[in-house]
Amino acid sequence: MAGKIIIDTERCKGCGLCVMVCPKSCITISEQSNKNGYFPAVSDNTGCTGCAMCAIICPDAVIEVSRDDNTAAFEPAKKSKADLLSLNGGPTG
Ligand code: SF4
Ligand code: SF4
Repeated sequence: MAGKIIIDTERCKGCGLCVMVCPKSCITISEQSNKNGYFPAVSDNTGCTGCAMCAIICPDAVIEVSRDDNTAAFEPAKKSKADLLSLNGGPTG
């Protein structure tokens, strides 16, 4: 399964959490700052599976995920506490 992410780089604060959790190492931090002075996360989507871990961990909810099979694409506006807990395989209630 192939996936794709879109990062709203102007709203990203460059915290690097998405870089740390991506199992495919397909996100890096840009060398160019955004209008707010942060160095945002960027990706060319090489190797992305659409797992959505980056979008779930992002504290600013600025990553949108889509998958080529159109299953369960992740929309930042629908992010929940249960999504975050699922990263650790913890309780989702
Ligand atoms: S969706 Fe998964 S594989 Fe793709 S960039 Fe995010 S964490 Fe990495
Ligand atoms: S987790 Fe979100 S705010 Fe942090 S670097 Fe990644 S996209 Fe930017």
